[in-house]
Amino acid sequence: MGAYQIDTEKERQEILKRYRLLVTLLRNKTTPEQKRQIRKAFNIAVAGHKDMRRKSGEPYIYHPLEVARIAAADIGLGATSVICALLHDLVEDTDYTLLDIRELFGETVEKIIDGLTKIEGVMDMQTPSMQAENFKKILLTLSDDIRVILIKLADRLHNMRTLDSMINEKQLKIASETAFLYAPLAHRLGLYAIKSELEDLSMKYIEPEIYQSISSLITKTKEERDRFINDFVTPIKKILKDDNVDFEIISRIKSVHSIWHKMKTKGVPLEQVFDLFAIRIIIDSPIEREKADCWKVYTIVTSLYRPNPDRLRDWISIPKANGYESLHTTVMSGSGKWVEIQIRSRRMNEIAEKGYAAHWKYKNLTQKEQNFEAGLDEWLTKIRDILKTNDGSALDFLSDIKLNLFSEEIFVFTPAGDMKTLPKGSTILDFAYNIHTDLGNKCIGAKVNYNLVPLSYVLRSGEQIEIITSKVQKPKKEWLDYVVTSKAREKIKDAVKVDRKIQVEEGKMRFVKILSDNNVSYSDEYVINIARRMGYKSQNDFLYNLNQDEVSISELKKYIENKDGRNSFIDYITLRPLIKWRSTNKSLDEVITKQLKSNPESLVLDEDIDQIKYNISSCCNPIHGDQVVGFITDKNNIEIHRTNCEQAIKMMSQFGNRIVKAKWRNHEGVSILTGLKINGIDRKGLVKEVTDVISGQLNLNMRSVNFESSEGVFDGVIMVYVQNLENLNELISELKKIKGIDKVDRINSYKV
Ligand code: MN
Repeated sequence: MGAYQIDTEKERQEILKRYRLLVTLLRNKTTPEQKRQIRKAFNIAVAGHKDMRRKSGEPYIYHPLEVARIAAADIGLGATSVICALLHDLVEDTDYTLLDIRELFGETVEKIIDGLTKIEGVMDMQTPSMQAENFKKILLTLSDDIRVILIKLADRLHNMRTLDSMINEKQLKIASETAFLYAPLAHRLGLYAIKSELEDLSMKYIEPEIYQSISSLITKTKEERDRFINDFVTPIKKILKDDNVDFEIISRIKSVHSIWHKMKTKGVPLEQVFDLFAIRIIIDSPIEREKADCWKVYTIVTSLYRPNPDRLRDWISIPKANGYESLHTTVMSGSGKWVEIQIRSRRMNEIAEKGYAAHWKYKNLTQKEQNFEAGLDEWLTKIRDILKTNDGSALDFLSDIKLNLFSEEIFVFTPAGDMKTLPKGSTILDFAYNIHTDLGNKCIGAKVNYNLVPLSYVLRSGEQIEIITSKVQKPKKEWLDYVVTSKAREKIKDAVKVDRKIQVEEGKMRFVKILSDNNVSYSDEYVINIARRMGYKSQNDFLYNLNQDEVSISELKKYIENKDGRNSFIDYITLRPLIKWRSTNKSLDEVITKQLKSNPESLVLDEDIDQIKYNISSCCNPIHGDQVVGFITDKNNIEIHRTNCEQAIKMMSQFGNRIVKAKWRNHEGVSILTGLKINGIDRKGLVKEVTDVISGQLNLNMRSVNFESSEGVFDGVIMVYVQNLENLNELISELKKIKGIDKVDRINSYKV
């Protein structure tokens, strides 16, 4: 009980005094019936807590009275909330039941008290998972009636203010909960003053030394600071007065917690943080003129002090998701210090201080109000979503909640101009899933401000996003790396039912079986080779798709039978090398001699000569247009290499007699090597479609194809031989018809 002296009569007087103060606060907000109800609640609470005392020794009833006062004065809540605040500890601490409450005050009060009672002692649980379970309960009640959490915040604030009388262990526990849960909640609900105080009070117990050193420095420098502020605002005041603006200027030092936060995150020394002054100019302006008046004040301030254009924040045109409206700028003072200026109307200030509840007072006044309410509804819906979808571990749940509910937010726009708020760091996929699950599942990319971007693109405030979808798109496990919202994560997890690793393993088993049916033995190299030739990005990608029945078995068999290692592009190129014979090989010799008789100049090697087989070597993949040489292998095959191929050079130096000259047939007209740059949305089979158009449909020869794909969007360079411009234009227009291709441009200079 400490130094507290009990004097019953004095206490009785004090209790009544506090009660009258409370009633005065609600004077204009209550009907006579509500006044009677408040009186009734007060009497019941006094009687119920009669012999109880707080840890400080004070009568217990001081606490519910103070909670009710904070609810009414600092949060702006009305009669029902005040009644609930007065009764909030009754069911927990006395013989009163919820049923009693319902009979005395009706269902609404009962429900709120029920919510408040459930929250009580939530964090007493020893294990994080139990904490999380109970934390869920808090959020459930929060999504039922927002007043539960508002009263709870008032309760917490008073407990934090009186935390000194608790034992240290308990102080730490309560302070930690406050920092972890209640301060962020207050922030999210727009209760800036309460949030700051909760943060400072928790820091006082969690980091007492730092708290003390910062706050003592604040006290020490007060005089100097006041002088500076006075010098700074005097000219502003003068002009505002001359202009007949009704205003109030408030200068408040940053909170201890925000100073410490800034020091930690920005690595700034204490002195420099102190150099940052913030001044708030509040104007009394009717709602229809407030915006124009704020800008008028802005003009006045910036005509006196040079503003930093990078620091202009217009929360008037687009308020923050929690309803905050204000105009911020930073200007250079005469003495070379930056000063942050916040300009807002009285109404905006009230919303900034009291948050959610203040909105009700101004309800139906502006479109912004409706936006804010929609935003809050969205937030509450988000909570329900998380509670519904989260079946992961308790700790996952906690981090989800932290990330999704309390992180900083960005606002972005749909093509129709609807604003969406998302946590900072959200990507295209988060946005798509935020709008609709199907939109997320079918998303292949997006246009952000008309530029094509991949799924993983991190959104910034103000961007307008058009999601691009494809019917054949399927969510992939990798997508989990691209999302931050729990909604997107849960939906992706739902969609990717079986673990990819298992699929790949199963695909491998199936492939081994297919190979053995075709008398081929399995090796990793073989899979890599097949995967590459069939146009898959990796071995696992191929095996995964095989297991998903996405690979045509008959097509696969063709690739297995064709063991020459040909690049799939080459399949479409007519390959008819012209060879001059210099070999000593006997069996080849006969054929070639015969050929040379009919054409003494050269040997035409084509499909007609089935005794001689030629392969396109896989080491350098020569294609039409390359300088090539033939190399006779031990198996009486001719292997075609590029003349600059390292392998060919090595062989030429060792086995000169096996070299044959070769060049490409089909040189009607002069072909010009041209480069095309293409980009678009990647999908399976796209490369094949591109090469089909070039080699198959248009019968053009390719020099090289290079596709680079990153997170669903690809950039490709194709070097191709064309006869003339008409040819080229036809190619470009055909390529543009391929689904997924966004741009096709001719490259004017390139390295061959
Ligand atoms: Mn309480």
